[in-house]
Amino acid sequence: MPDTVFGKIARGELDADIVYEDDEVVAFRDLNPQAPLHVLIIPRKPIATLNDVAAADAALIGRLFQVAAEVAAREGVAEQGYRTVINCNAQAGQTVYHLHVHLLGGRALQWPPG
Ligand code: AMP
Repeated sequence: MPDTVFGKIARGELDADIVYEDDEVVAFRDLNPQAPLHVLIIPRKPIATLNDVAAADAALIGRLFQVAAEVAAREGVAEQGYRTVINCNAQAGQTVYHLHVHLLGGRALQWPPG
């Protein structure tokens, strides 16, 4: 897959406001936040979209959501509630083709989403 800004962040080549990182996962604040808390959780491994997840990636995808819950707790939104979203491809509004989970919280979120 082509390199992306998130690949550069994962490799430490581009600055980001990182809130969590380990060998497999990086979480950083969105540049254009849509809620008081808006963090993106990415695998270091470049996977373009949810469609490209292989069976061997199952544990890694689970880690993304574990990290989302950990960050939500640390940022104080776990009890009030928060949302995790993965946009897949153009019609869902995906703009960066490196798989990422949006963690949104800190305000009431509408349903259904737009
Ligand atoms: P999506 O539309 O699901 O692909 O989400 C991409 C998100 O990445 C958007 O919310 C952007 O605001 C965010 N974004 C793009 N570039 C950066 C960056 N360099 N650092 C942090 N967030 C970014």
